[in-house]
Amino acid sequence: MALRFYNTLTQELEGFYPLQNNTVRMYTCGPTVYNFVHIGNFRTFTFQDILRRWLRYRGYQLNHVMNVTDVDDKIIANAAKEHKSIGDYTAVFTKAFFEDAAALRLEQPEHVAPATKHIDVMANAIEQLAAKGCTYTSEGSTYFRISSFPEYGKLSHNDFSGIRSGARVDVDEYDKADARDFVLWKARKDSEPAWETPFGEGRPGWHIECSAMAMSYLGETLDIHAGGVDLIFPHHENEIAQSEAITGKPFARFWLHAEHLHIESQKMSKSLGNFYTLRDLLEMGYEPEAIRYLLASVPYRKKLNFTFESLKAVAKSIERLREFELRLASAKLPAGANEEISERSREAIRQFEEAMDDDLNTAEALAAIFEYVRAMNSGLDENRFQEENRWDAARVLEVFDCVFDVLKSSGSAEAEQAGSLSEAEIKAAIDERSQAKKARDFARADQIRGRLQEAGVLLEDTKDGVRWKRK
Ligand code: AMP
Ligand code: ZN
Repeated sequence: MALRFYNTLTQELEGFYPLQNNTVRMYTCGPTVYNFVHIGNFRTFTFQDILRRWLRYRGYQLNHVMNVTDVDDKIIANAAKEHKSIGDYTAVFTKAFFEDAAALRLEQPEHVAPATKHIDVMANAIEQLAAKGCTYTSEGSTYFRISSFPEYGKLSHNDFSGIRSGARVDVDEYDKADARDFVLWKARKDSEPAWETPFGEGRPGWHIECSAMAMSYLGETLDIHAGGVDLIFPHHENEIAQSEAITGKPFARFWLHAEHLHIESQKMSKSLGNFYTLRDLLEMGYEPEAIRYLLASVPYRKKLNFTFESLKAVAKSIERLREFELRLASAKLPAGANEEISERSREAIRQFEEAMDDDLNTAEALAAIFEYVRAMNSGLDENRFQEENRWDAARVLEVFDCVFDVLKSSGSAEAEQAGSLSEAEIKAAIDERSQAKKARDFARADQIRGRLQEAGVLLEDTKDGVRWKRK
């Protein structure tokens, strides 16, 4: 079956294809940069990275826009406390966000759009809404009148027919099922940062930020809009109301939402104080690959319960895959190909693809890989592998890793950067040692082993040949 996603809008699994050419036009809600982002947030961003990679694996190109919310109530309050401009304040956390994202190997979207650099498109969208009679002003602020959009509630599947007309909120986030006219433009208060517009001095609300930027980069109807489940209402409901009120066209065809990461059965969140940042976990000595793997391993529509035991368990899973890779590379194999192994390898790829096509079922995709690795380790034990099967198995690992991206250890990349030995140098030294042993020059062989050990590389002589790993 072809690629399909669960669409929050229709509440169904639907076959996916992009509307224009071969390019998926996708918008995801990015971070609010008032602090370090926690690993709960990164669960959602990791899901988006897996989504990107799978779309590309399926032959599509991407035009993906992610916003960075760099002006909001919390940012203004925190910057004022530190006597900084909001630009100086948010620069630190924006930089930290992209450093953390890179450590987790999250690909950069094609466009990263900071809100404060797009005030003009937001002001323009508000003017269009005003011209259509969807807004009103009160005390200098402009509000969206939700009674002007009869389909309000269609994403969150709430019935808002009994809403109190005229009740409004100034904050960007509010309770579920409490639909109120929301703020599009907030009048300037005291010395807050503000921008000049024909409808007054002030700053944009959070919801208009995403509608306006999404449409300005991607056009009126996007292929995919994604975020965490907490954004379904009110944020994404409001985005639909604003965008569709302007264009009269569907704003996004597919709405994908990631469930939350929990810790001790509670949503991880800054306000509850029960969070870990990526930096916290790296300082405790966990590998970024293990964290990435853990965040990706539970299908995105299921809650993920974070525990340190699971983090340790996935580190072992990665180790198993790396050991298999190493064993494959160093095994001494007879020439030729065992067709049974080749077929089992193709089957593993088919199972992986089927699982990923099924709304990114990462758990099943991983199960397919681990069953395969178990079978192939037996294949190696029982001497059923031949030289050309090396490439069959390498292809399976390659397919796995172009999505999960955990096989190469960033620890070893750092060690290489720090001036220790590269893989090529290690292999050359191992060859030299084997030659020395053949020539019965055991002193030389021991000397090479010692030199490698000093550089943090351990050798193991096995019946399949020499295996090595970094300490
Ligand atoms: P924020 O910076 O709060 O706007 O959140 C950025 C993204 O992280 C949004 O898509 C949120 O839905 C998502 N998010 C927030 N908390 C969690 C959590 N505990 N688990 C998964 N995603 C989350
Ligand atoms: Zn958004």
